[in-house]
Amino acid sequence: MHLVIVNLPKVNCDGFFYSYFHYNWTQNLTSNPSTYCFNLFRHNTDHNKSYFCSIFVHCFPGGRRGKKLLKLEQVEDVVKFILNFTAEHCIHLPGRIPGFKSADVKLLPSYVTKAHLWRLYRDAAPEHGPVAESTFRKLWSDLLSYVVVAKPATDLCWTCQQNNNLITRQVNVPDEEKTEALRRQEEHLLEAQRERDAYRTACQASKAVAREHSIKKLGKNAANSKPVVFHYSFDFAQQVHYPADPQQPGPSYFRTQRKCHIFGMAAEGLPAQVNYLADEGVSCGKGANVVVSYIHHFLENYGIGEQHVHFNADNCAGQNKNNTMLQYLCWRVESNLHKSVSISFLPVGHTKFAPDWCFGLLKQRYRKTKVSCLQDIVNVVDSSTVSGVNIPQLVGNEKGDVFVKVYDWSNHLGKHFKRFPRITFARHFRVTEDHPGRVFYKEKSDSAEEMFDLARSSPPPTLPPLIQPAGLDASRRKYLYEQIREFCTPETRDLVCPAPE
Ligand SMILES: [Zn+2]
Repeated sequence: MHLVIVNLPKVNCDGFFYSYFHYNWTQNLTSNPSTYCFNLFRHNTDHNKSYFCSIFVHCFPGGRRGKKLLKLEQVEDVVKFILNFTAEHCIHLPGRIPGFKSADVKLLPSYVTKAHLWRLYRDAAPEHGPVAESTFRKLWSDLLSYVVVAKPATDLCWTCQQNNNLITRQVNVPDEEKTEALRRQEEHLLEAQRERDAYRTACQASKAVAREHSIKKLGKNAANSKPVVFHYSFDFAQQVHYPADPQQPGPSYFRTQRKCHIFGMAAEGLPAQVNYLADEGVSCGKGANVVVSYIHHFLENYGIGEQHVHFNADNCAGQNKNNTMLQYLCWRVESNLHKSVSISFLPVGHTKFAPDWCFGLLKQRYRKTKVSCLQDIVNVVDSSTVSGVNIPQLVGNEKGDVFVKVYDWSNHLGKHFKRFPRITFARHFRVTEDHPGRVFYKEKSDSAEEMFDLARSSPPPTLPPLIQPAGLDASRRKYLYEQIREFCTPETRDLVCPAPE
């Protein structure tokens, strides 16, 4: 069977496919059942149409004589390998990446090279035979152009990157323009520094509180019971996959293992971080309801019972910075769970904070440990620090039992609060018991504070209705059973990849 890769135009790919296919089918393919290709892609994978179009592989015998042509499975292997490697190693960035127009770019760290990845691919011995390095590179640039390796000088902040380019790289730019860029960059860095200083000050104040009240660890405390200000930060980490074997990472990149999302809630004052481990079978995604529910669980079960709480998060609209979050903060104050709540978002590209540090330690350990079930991930988190900074919290188990409930906060609170119109501009928000339902906000830590009234009616202190996780669907169960089971240890096989019903 010969295969030719065709880059399809984005529009009308179905029509294009049918006419093209029909022509070749009637011309050449009288016996070869290569309709299989199309059906295989349409029905056996959960990829979307654009993925299909980009990897559309077409068969016709007799074409391109004398040239060694690829098998469909080989192309699939390369794509799977690169995508799975990327899922595990790409740099976790909220929003847009400097220097790339498209927002769905995936950035690999600069120490990864295409040649290194090809060797890893070759050594993993793909089932249908490896392709040559040049083919690997061609397939990568043709099919996965949105996966890029960061250049060593890539800055993670769009503003920094733009200004620095103007200052150092451009030759034919008038001096005035360069001076202007220099001034803008200085201002920008000063602003980033101010936000960072505000964050540091909050962390140090928390440390002082912990010392003063001899708080050594997180635990269950009555809400609103300690007359102190305390600080927490939260963020999502890149998901991890299991089963995973650091001795033999290659073969697993051809398959899609069970996924586990990690959400970290750090208390810099101690320091400690609770890591929420959400297996794909019990995960409800990464949306606003999930973030708010985890924060709620954290404050109920691990909070120190502070009256005034301050949060820091990264500036990711959708996950962290959204109306549900603000409404939840108002709800907490109105339900007498805090006297005041404030939240600050660090500027994009300048968000190195405590959760990143804890995730780094966790990932280091994960890359060195053989992991075959959720309990192994729990052990990885536990053993990632000697002093017990990282604390594991399972959201549920492999069987689908849920330990951390997710509530429908957005619908529940949406009835009682208005939407905040300028949410993307402001970076600091504050709610106090003296002004229930009102949000005080400012753009920068040193700008003037303004007020917006969110309240429509006063929300009941009861919890919203539960959201049930969708669980693993039949096709995913089948896939795990058929493709992943062999990577599990005999003891965890029935737990991680049970036989589909
Ligand atoms: Zn910057």
